[in-house]
Amino acid sequence: MKIYADNAATTRMSRAAINAMLPYMEEIYGNPSSVHSYGQKAKEALEDARVRAAKLLGCSPREITFTSGGSEADNQAIRSAAAIGARKGKKHIISTAFEHHAVLHTLDALKTEGFTVTLLDIREDGIITPEQVQAAIRPDTCLVSVMYANNEIGTIQPIPEIGKLCSESGVLLHTDAVQAFGSLPVNVETLRADLLSLSAHKFHGPKGVGLLYCRKGIPLTPVITGGAQERGKRAGTENIPGIMGMAAAMEEAAVAMEKNRAYVTKLRDRLIEGLSAIPHSILNGDAEKRLPGNVNFCFEGIEGESLLLMLDAKGIAASSGSACTAGSLDPSHVLLALGRPYELANSGLRLTINELNTAEEIDTIIAAVSESVETLRRLSPAWKDLTEGKREFLLK
Ligand SMILES: *Cc1c(COP(=O)(O)O)cnc(C)c1O
Repeated sequence: MKIYADNAATTRMSRAAINAMLPYMEEIYGNPSSVHSYGQKAKEALEDARVRAAKLLGCSPREITFTSGGSEADNQAIRSAAAIGARKGKKHIISTAFEHHAVLHTLDALKTEGFTVTLLDIREDGIITPEQVQAAIRPDTCLVSVMYANNEIGTIQPIPEIGKLCSESGVLLHTDAVQAFGSLPVNVETLRADLLSLSAHKFHGPKGVGLLYCRKGIPLTPVITGGAQERGKRAGTENIPGIMGMAAAMEEAAVAMEKNRAYVTKLRDRLIEGLSAIPHSILNGDAEKRLPGNVNFCFEGIEGESLLLMLDAKGIAASSGSACTAGSLDPSHVLLALGRPYELANSGLRLTINELNTAEEIDTIIAAVSESVETLRRLSPAWKDLTEGKREFLLK
């Protein structure tokens, strides 16, 4: 049996999303910038997708820019806010230590351009408080960027409260809502976000397409320069099939959200309960304020990468953290930010499930993880030291 439990990395495309794309590859393949009928039909579809996406996010269609995905949307949001800040002599940005690398590496680049960045520490529950943000705001702060839900540990951040205090302080708020869409309500007014990023492939849409919401009146700086597409905010021929697939996936995800959330939360809690029975293990991130499909554990005395390989051999697809850090043996920056010591941060296992998973699969995963952890511990010199009392256990 094959079990896919890596939905935070990417999801299977839905039939509706695939079907929504096909006509725009086979028949309506014009370039939306062309004046002939082929182009105009594509242009109509593009604007229709924008209207549908805007309706779901509670904004106006003009506030949506289609991008190549979440990374590009994050880059553009941050660079645009930074450019606005720089014009006013405000070059301080607040973010968190557990953002996606699309945010963190963009901030690193801005540091070389004279910006100062404050990365907020993460408490052990994996949640940033509005008080932390408030305390970090300075007269020269131009932007706060805090993700809505974390991609590794699934914790949900109090974005509406952070948004309120940002608007009171005259600071822009960007939120990376890539992991949230389809699992949590994403309405830009409720969230009080000025900028918000989404990526289609995280909610059963195609890869290589996403969007950036930008509140009216806030000028976006193009990251990709060239033609005048997307009202001059993003050059390049629009990815019409991708955009149509994303619009369909968004609608489907919004309709099914409540039902899926209830079902997936039950599976998640069953999985958490099962894995908690493994001795010397710990759940990373708050048990309740987390995405319905996210489970993330550390198991003392083992290496996450070995556990992954063993699970893969049993047909189970999981992750040791974000896909970007997988492949390198650096421990997850998120688990380190959470305060896990290096050797524990190296033992992380992320299982991200959704409505396509079943209770039987959950039980299979629990059995496979328990068995694999036991096997790895038998082979582990670190575990030997722990059991022989040469080193203290970090986890009960
Ligand atoms: C996947 C992900 C991204 C990147 O999106 P892409 O479309 O793959 O570029 C950004 N932020 C978060 C939180 C993600 O999970």
